[in-house]
Amino acid sequence: MPALLSVSEALQNLLEAFQPVGCEQVGLPEAAGRVVAEDIRSRFDLPNFDNSTMDGFALRAADVNGACHERPVLLDVVADIPAGQPFSGTLTHGQAARIMTGAPLPAGSDAVIPVEDTNYSCLQAGAPVPIQVQVFRSVRVGDYVRVRGKDAREQDLLIPRGTRLRPQEIGILAMLGISSLQVYRQPRLAILPTGDELIRVGDPLQPGKIYESNTYALTAQVEQSGGLAVPLGLIPDRLESVREALDRALNAKVDAILSSAGVSVGAYDFVRAAIEQDGKLSFWRVNMRPGKPVAFGFYRGTPFIGLPGNPTSAFVSFEVFVRPALLKLAGQSDWSRPSIRVELLDMVESDGRESYLRGMVTFRDGHAYARLTGNQDSGNLRSLIQANALLIIPNEVKCLPIGAVVQAWLL
Ligand code: AMP
Ligand code: MG
Repeated sequence: MPALLSVSEALQNLLEAFQPVGCEQVGLPEAAGRVVAEDIRSRFDLPNFDNSTMDGFALRAADVNGACHERPVLLDVVADIPAGQPFSGTLTHGQAARIMTGAPLPAGSDAVIPVEDTNYSCLQAGAPVPIQVQVFRSVRVGDYVRVRGKDAREQDLLIPRGTRLRPQEIGILAMLGISSLQVYRQPRLAILPTGDELIRVGDPLQPGKIYESNTYALTAQVEQSGGLAVPLGLIPDRLESVREALDRALNAKVDAILSSAGVSVGAYDFVRAAIEQDGKLSFWRVNMRPGKPVAFGFYRGTPFIGLPGNPTSAFVSFEVFVRPALLKLAGQSDWSRPSIRVELLDMVESDGRESYLRGMVTFRDGHAYARLTGNQDSGNLRSLIQANALLIIPNEVKCLPIGAVVQAWLL
């Protein structure tokens, strides 16, 4: 038997088949969670005008040089500047303007003194503007002022193409007045669960049968990565049924096809045969645990990933292969997964395949530790729901002692 492909070889091979899908214009509220398809540059300076960071008084710093509680400096208050209402005049020597947070700094001033450092410390809603104010301390030029362009200059690159838009990016897009933008279309992935033992959730359970759970978990995984799942119902373990389902997937205009089960060496495993009849299998089986039977190829030109049927194998192979492929399809520029180094609190045995073990990562005194969450059988989802991480045991490692350090993917 030829040597099995390593995870990294298989992933590289598979990723070559996926290119970003096309784009569409969406309104800003719909853009959250989508991947931006254009470079977003600042349309103007941010902030767009000098403004106060405090409720207080705008003044000339030179006027209050040396001010202190014992020798306050008295200034004439010549204006009141609420947020949103620029003052058209100019402050001169000995003058101040009451100013609110976010209000434009008046011409002639170069700093703000917070209200707490003046004798006008009773500022509250509706408070009248004083005629004069005593300032109890000095300030430097620029104190309590957000200078125009401090956060970004016009034309600065703020959000590069390929970024998935988080709430904070949505906020800055709104700050720039951008009401709609180009994003990548959401990739569509067909989900084909094969197996004669499967019963639809909601139907009565029968002897020897199990509820079909992979479609649900895989759909949630697809959606978590920004894709759209197209579930194709239960597919019997027959070559014709699998082919018919693959054709339905193509009719549904999907960007890739995911199947579950029927891809191993069982007498009723027809998925590979169906792909080979009308497509091509690029690889089958990877040196990993769980997930070894994973297959990859094309069905009439559409990328196809055959996931194993065991629920945890399907989950892990999705994380290892489908998530990066989906993110690449989705136009995201970085599809690597952040990982951390953790110290093992349990001894780990492996069979030499690259292993993705269910574990619980905890943090203590600035260090990350990990325990296994129990039974690592590929059919056991319970140890996966108890896990908050997959611990990666490299190729060719058979045993790791307590205290060994491994990489972990936080789930
Ligand atoms: P197979 O890959 O067809 O050999 O299936 C491996 C194991 O996964 C068997 O125990 C199946 O019953 C189980 N299995 C297959 N498909 C599903 C599914 N969609 N939901 C839950 N379990 C499944
Ligand atoms: Mg089966």
